[in-house]
Amino acid sequence: MPDPQPITVEEHLDRVLAAIEPLAVSTQPLLDALGLAAAEPVTAGVSLPGFDNSAMDGYAVRLADVVSATSDAPVHLPVVGAIGAGAADLRDLPEGTAAKIMTGAPVPAGADAVVPYEWTDRGAEHVRIDRAPTEGQHVRRAGEDVTAGDLVLEAGTVLGPRQLGLLASLGHARVAVRHRPRVVVLSTGSELREPGQPLGHDSIHDGNSFLLAAAARRAGAAVYRVGIVPDQPEAFLAALEEQLVRADVVVTSGGVSMGDYDVVKAALRPLGTVWFGPVAMQPGKPQGFGHVGPGRVPIFTLPGNPVSAYLSFELFVLPALRKMMGLTPWSRPQVTARLTHAITSPPGRRQLLRAHLDVAEGTVSPVGGPGSHLVGGLADADAVVVVPEDVTALDAGATVSVLPLDTGLDGGL
Ligand code: AMP
Ligand code: MG
Repeated sequence: MPDPQPITVEEHLDRVLAAIEPLAVSTQPLLDALGLAAAEPVTAGVSLPGFDNSAMDGYAVRLADVVSATSDAPVHLPVVGAIGAGAADLRDLPEGTAAKIMTGAPVPAGADAVVPYEWTDRGAEHVRIDRAPTEGQHVRRAGEDVTAGDLVLEAGTVLGPRQLGLLASLGHARVAVRHRPRVVVLSTGSELREPGQPLGHDSIHDGNSFLLAAAARRAGAAVYRVGIVPDQPEAFLAALEEQLVRADVVVTSGGVSMGDYDVVKAALRPLGTVWFGPVAMQPGKPQGFGHVGPGRVPIFTLPGNPVSAYLSFELFVLPALRKMMGLTPWSRPQVTARLTHAITSPPGRRQLLRAHLDVAEGTVSPVGGPGSHLVGGLADADAVVVVPEDVTALDAGATVSVLPLDTGLDGGL
């Protein structure tokens, strides 16, 4: 069957996103939710601080007893006890007395200020106070930070360290999120060997399953790297079927171009549920997307060349995973920069040129060659220049769209 006419990057992405639904909401332990979006708004059930407490190590006092204190005419008070954080037996301060109090310890009833150690002789039985505090000085008031009933996190807020710390402070042990997409990553190719294994004259190490598994994990997914499947349709289908039970998404690499042994196409085409075709981009022209198995698990069949596989992940898989997790924006935002060198580009295809982006200078420099096998250049790049389909040449100094590869998105990991 001849391949159809190429579709645009946007057409392919739109079809993918139309077929992807946000995953179910469940509550997760706080640390498991790092990088995910709050699926529901969170309202404080308690106030923070929960009780009036001391902001300093010092003495809790009644203002009326110490209001006249100066260094020339200090006030002397008996010390009736010590109140520690988490060790606060003394709950009422009698008139005419002081109590030692530590930072974070509850201020006893009757006391209305804390005199820091620095203004006293630090006495144990009696204390000399050299300076009068003002009303409420060095007391952190209950509810001054968060008041019970406050909306503290809107739905969709990405849960980073500060948000998780707040939830824990409010007493939440779990938080409602969309669970992490479980992504199964499969590499196809009879030439592939696991890293660490010896190579023959015709074999190479499987870089893609690590590249794609790492990209999926960084996007926030729970990843199962299955590794290598040989170029035999039965073996591919068997591996796929075994994995489907634990997959929200399957990502494969290789076996989708025009070769004689294109295993993924050969295995999946007969199912009729996976679209294969060219997308008008370079690298990354041969793409496939559809559903497999009784659970209609979305499958991305990415091309085998490593640069193609990685940029296909960026353009199509990453937005799908983010939609599943309820993270926005779905796609990494592009920026503009000035080209440091002139470039050329083939007509009719969107070209993605590996590059270095200098944000401070507002410039972008192409790095390495255009070959989609060049993993050294890929690791060296931190962005790609996006050259539109109808542009065939750009001069140095031209303003271009740039897709950063590591920045611009909240959430995930
Ligand atoms: P294919 O699309 O299967 O024909 O693969 C295209 C090119 O990518 C071939 O040179 C493959 O050897 C190479 N390739 C495919 N899969 C991988 C992989 N997992 N790691 C590194 N290179 C790969
Ligand atoms: Mg192959």
